[in-house]
This record gives sequence, structure tokens and C-alpha cells, in this order.
Amino acid sequence: DRIGQAAGRPAPRVVEADIRDRTAIHDLMERSQFDAVMHFAGLKSVSDSVSRPAEYFDVNVGGLVTVIQAMKSNGVRKLVFSSSATVYDLGAGQGAIREDAPFGPNNPYGQSKLMAEQVLQAQEAAAPDWSVGILRYFNPAGAHPSGLIGECPADPPDNLLPYIAQVAAGQRQYLGIFGDDWDTPDGTGVRDYVHITDLARGHLASLDALERDGHGHVVNLGTGRGLSVQDVRRAYEHACGREIPFRILPRRPGDVASCYCDTQRARDVLGFEARQDVDAICASSWKWVRHLYPEVSPS
Ligand code: UDP
Repeated sequence: DRIGQAAGRPAPRVVEADIRDRTAIHDLMERSQFDAVMHFAGLKSVSDSVSRPAEYFDVNVGGLVTVIQAMKSNGVRKLVFSSSATVYDLGAGQGAIREDAPFGPNNPYGQSKLMAEQVLQAQEAAAPDWSVGILRYFNPAGAHPSGLIGECPADPPDNLLPYIAQVAAGQRQYLGIFGDDWDTPDGTGVRDYVHITDLARGHLASLDALERDGHGHVVNLGTGRGLSVQDVRRAYEHACGREIPFRILPRRPGDVASCYCDTQRARDVLGFEARQDVDAICASSWKWVRHLYPEVSPS
């Protein structure tokens, strides 16, 4: 309903089903005659994947296979896929990461995404009328600018932005920063935060490119700019008008100093460039958080 409200259009139809439920996914595709599929239904927590690896392969790889088979049976041949920068060997070095950088995910989540990419590329190779857009997200962040749609993690969030948002909303006392002794300008980890509305535009551009080119692509989606944890914390303080207290904690296992993307291919292949900066990310997140926790007084 809120998608409809935010877009000023009738709300999209929703069918609730498990991505691993072959019958449900086949029935849905048979009934609906889709032109293309955008596949977002995946699990995405690195730490969760370490404790429940089988679920990650089941949903992220097995679920994708179910989608592919249902597409095959119903003549749907275009797919846009949510992949992740975690497929790269992020410890390999510094600098902007290009799409041809070495792979090397070191956790089941990243491995499941890499396997899913390989499944898709094998399908594309086997069926020349298929075209697949593989989009490797860097750090998606923020909410819809209307404040109507955002993320609502059920458990303590792993990710920086939702964690800061909960501190701003008074749900948590302070932000724990995982190390201030990294080889970065202020010692805290550097990442490439891309606004979810930019990410959404990237998906539309990917679909357009599949229509136009008749073949697939593998593209990074990010801004090409790295920001430190402290940069983001300060930007959020500015957006919400409150202090975000922090404590320096030990480094988190598996973290790297710096990770941001090379955006050349996204520009060349998709004509895509991120438009929103970290202030827009934080402002939209704060608007959403006030919607989520109405007891938070406006600032
Ligand atoms: N981070 C942090 N405290 C948190 C969550 C994250 O200091 O509570 C840091 C983390 O070490 C990394 C950055 O924020 O440098 C982004 O982490 P996130 O988990 O959001 O994304 P990642 O790039 O690790 O997938």
C-alpha cells in the first residue's frame, strides 16, 4: 500500500510465497505472464550466514534455481539479480573495485551470491535468448524520501545505517565503532554508501539495457566515493539534530579497511550515476525512523 502511496499509483499486487516453493513460484509465473523478473528474495547477513550456512545456500542459490526453472517453463528470459560487493576478494588491496577484480568471498553469504552469479551465467550461456543483469551492490542505505518505506531489522542490525538510526531514535545507547586503527584517513572503516532510490534507478537502467542490448551485464552499483564510519555518524547527527554517542570497539572479524567501487562500467553500460549523497541518505533514514517510532519527538 505504501508503495502505491509513495508512487501516487495503485498499489502493486502482492503474492506472498517462499522463494523455495516450486509449486507457488511456477503457478505465479504461469498465471502472470511476466516480461522480466527482478529477483531480490535473499538472505543478507554475513554473521547469520556463518551460523546458518545451509539456509543461505538453500534460499540464495536453491531459491534462484526455482525462479530460473519457473521462468524457463513460462518463456520469461530477462532477469535482474541482486548481487553484492561481497563476491570480491575485499582484502586484496586498496583502491576502487572494478568488476574484473578477483573474487574471494570469505563467508557463506558472499559465497552464495557468487554461486548464484555462476548459476545465472551458466543459464545465459546455455540459452542465448536469455539476458541477465547482475548488479553488485556496495552499501545500500537510506529510505524512500517520503519516509513511508524503509528497513526495519528484527534483530540488532549488523549494518551501520540502521544501527545509527536506532541510536538516533533512542532505541540504543551508543554506536559501537568496530576499530579506529584501520589504514584510512580517520582510522574507521571506509565504505561506498549508495542511496536506495539510486539503487532502484540502477535496476530500471539494467532492465532497459537488457531490452536494448539483448545480452546481459555485470555491473557495480555504488557512488565511487568512500566514507568513513565517523563521516556517516556525523552526517546522521546533522540530519537528526541529535548527538550520536559512540564507543570504539575491537575490529569485527572479516571486516576490511576500505571498499568502494569503480563506477565506469555502470556509466558505460547502464548510463547510471548515483545522484544522492550521504546527507540525503541520512535525512531519508531519519524521516523513516520517525515514522517507525512515532514516539520519537521531531527535532
Ligand atoms: N560498522 C560499525 N559499527 C556497526 C556496524 C558497522 O563500526 O555497528 C562499520 C563496519 O565495521 C564497516 C562499516 O561500518 O566499516 C559498514 O559496515 P556494514 O556492516 O554496514 O557493511 P559492510 O560493508 O561490512 O557489508
